[in-house]
Amino acid sequence: MDKSIRDKYIAVIGLEVHAQLLTKSKIYNSDSAEYGSLPNTNVGVVTLAHPGTLPRLNKTVVEYAIKMGLACHSTITRFNIFDRKNYFYPDLPKGYQITQDRTPICVGGYVTINTKEGERNIELHRIHIEEDAGKSMHLALETDTLVDFNRAGVPLIEIVTQPDIKTSDEAYAYLTEVRKLVRYLDICDGNMEEGSLRCDANISVMRVGAKEFGKKVEVKNMNSIRNVQRAIDHEIERQIIETEKGNVIFSETRTFDASNGLTYSMRTKEELNDYRYFPDPDLSPLKVSEEWLAKIKASMPQLPRDLYNKYTKEFHLSEYDAQVLTDSKDVALYFEEVCKLTKNYKAASNWVMGPVKSYLNELTLSADEFPIPPHVLVELMNLVDDNTISFSIASQRVFPELFKNPNKGALQVAQQLNVIQDSNQDAILPIIDEVIKEFPLKVEEYKKGKKNIVSMFMGEVMKRSKGKADPKVANALITKKLEEV
Ligand code: ADP
Ligand code: MG
Repeated sequence: MDKSIRDKYIAVIGLEVHAQLLTKSKIYNSDSAEYGSLPNTNVGVVTLAHPGTLPRLNKTVVEYAIKMGLACHSTITRFNIFDRKNYFYPDLPKGYQITQDRTPICVGGYVTINTKEGERNIELHRIHIEEDAGKSMHLALETDTLVDFNRAGVPLIEIVTQPDIKTSDEAYAYLTEVRKLVRYLDICDGNMEEGSLRCDANISVMRVGAKEFGKKVEVKNMNSIRNVQRAIDHEIERQIIETEKGNVIFSETRTFDASNGLTYSMRTKEELNDYRYFPDPDLSPLKVSEEWLAKIKASMPQLPRDLYNKYTKEFHLSEYDAQVLTDSKDVALYFEEVCKLTKNYKAASNWVMGPVKSYLNELTLSADEFPIPPHVLVELMNLVDDNTISFSIASQRVFPELFKNPNKGALQVAQQLNVIQDSNQDAILPIIDEVIKEFPLKVEEYKKGKKNIVSMFMGEVMKRSKGKADPKVANALITKKLEEV
């Protein structure tokens, strides 16, 4: 799109994220909430809404929702009621969903994201608790629709932002941060492909200087963070083009097609349901006591933003390092353990971001499955630090060996591999003499002023010493010799 046209408009975005909670049982009964069971096996009488059955609230669901609220600096609602949201759909056995309409468990708060201009807080509207519906399956070549009720009654939280997001990049950063939070809190696996984290994007555009927001369009069915970004980009452009043509944007729900990056209308506002919300008389009000709240607060783990701040401000690591180290919880926790045993944070970060992460990636392991214990990695780092072995020997020879035999210890492996560095000048000098004798032309070049030829001599000496020469000592000796010849 022409920049001069794009610049006439401001985009306004609000996101609604559903996160499936990792509880053992469902939100209002004891059926298993496990993902991936055979269809219609986790379907007791309450899930199936048999007459006379009553819901009973799962306490862990409330705790998980409160944890998310605390992580987002929200106000926790102390007196909660649950509401029925009525609509008729084949995957909803009761004919209504039990949700929180008037008293969301968490109100306000924010999620901090990193943008090119620095940190920014995305304001939240609310987080509430509700139940998932079952799943209709439209199989290819089948005329009938099948329904699986396993998912009916699986607990969800819905995290709703204010219309506070301005670009698709910010939406991307926000979702990445939310996914990180639920994973650090261990309340949801954050998997968008499998649908345990789902996002609806509300998008509108307005002319620069306009006083009121434009009409919002809600886009559904994006199965990755990247696709949410694509859907927003497309939708902003589509709305601007329509507006420029003189057409009016009206509220509607659209679906995203990942194969071409376009959105298509699903239903317009007129077709929207009237949910007739009212308090569910089967569930008594839920009170969150001071004591319970304090207990939940005390059980909060370290959060990615706190670790990020610690790494940049206390450990003086770069923002990039801090970001990579906190991207996944298991890597951050491993790094934390390493940093309890050394003050050399930069070296620790290089090791974890370099050799450790590339091994994990290559073998698709998570850091909690990484075999080399933190204290052995620190031992290896120290061997490099005191010049017992060089970094390249440590990372290319000792590290892979330790990976196979993590209990041996770094020094023992270095000894067995016979790679302990020789800082003894007597051992290196004959090798240096030999190399200098072998390359008279290179020596001439050095004398003519091509000083960086030293690195070629270094390479030869290191090779012939089988990596055991201390690079600093070797470098000094080579330079000295070349000056003397
Ligand atoms: P609805 O009742 O239609 O679901 P809500 O007020 O609950 O609408 O808002 C749903 C989401 O849409 C929220 O994330 C909110 O921030 C966002 N939103 C509201 N108005 C706009 C707008 N004009 N443009 C973009 N997003 C909006
Ligand atoms: Mg809504």
